[in-house]
Amino acid sequence: MQQNGFQLEHCRPNCPKAACNWQNLYEKMLKKLDELNLLQTLAQKFTPVHYHHLPKISVAGCPNGCSQPNIKDFGISGYVVPKITEIPCAECDVCIGACLEKAITRESQEIIINQDKCISCGDCLRVCPTGTLSGSEKGWIVRYGGRVGRHPQFARLAGQLKTDDEVVSWVIETLQRYIDQGEPEERLTHFLDSIHLTQEQSENVQSGRGSKDSIFEDQKR
Ligand code: SF4
Ligand code: SF4
Ligand code: SF4
Repeated sequence: MQQNGFQLEHCRPNCPKAACNWQNLYEKMLKKLDELNLLQTLAQKFTPVHYHHLPKISVAGCPNGCSQPNIKDFGISGYVVPKITEIPCAECDVCIGACLEKAITRESQEIIINQDKCISCGDCLRVCPTGTLSGSEKGWIVRYGGRVGRHPQFARLAGQLKTDDEVVSWVIETLQRYIDQGEPEERLTHFLDSIHLTQEQSENVQSGRGSKDSIFEDQKR
């Protein structure tokens, strides 16, 4: 859907695969984006304002990313980390079959999750009949700088944020920096290209330890 000076997309409502409730995040994001009056800012940079000038944001309920967050200026995907509880395993192996990443193995009643393979989609939790597997930490994986067109690129992983408000703040503050610091006729996607992670931040992201601090730190330009 195209809004006033931006494009905010979402994935399928009421999808059973959603790791997080994206509807609340979407509504908060829409309200804050409206308040930025982006069309007015863009009209000062570009005459006329075309579709490719519009900031594009996408929210998805899980790492499947059906709303294509990987090719947007800001891509946001829900995640939930699986936890092995004290409840005895029934040895049914349904979770092993459900995991498309082949991240789960079982030795007798002991379930083992390979964290290097797990993408925190939550598929295994939903099928476990006993509650041996349940969800622990959940939140949002956030990416930035994706685009299509003449020089397409996937959005870069920035890290993980726990709450809706943190995600909205991150997007809005970054857009505000683009408004304040972007060059005349500079597109958002090229402004985002100038934001790089430090070595330490890159290592944190690689190991899944990205944090709110690291995301904001990397935006000093
Ligand atoms: S991204 Fe996940 S939650 Fe959203 S529609 Fe696709 S599978 Fe469902
Ligand atoms: S959360 Fe997803 S990727 Fe991780 S073990 Fe469960 S099914 Fe596999
Ligand atoms: S689905 Fe649950 S009960 Fe079945 S093997 Fe996996 S952890 Fe055990």
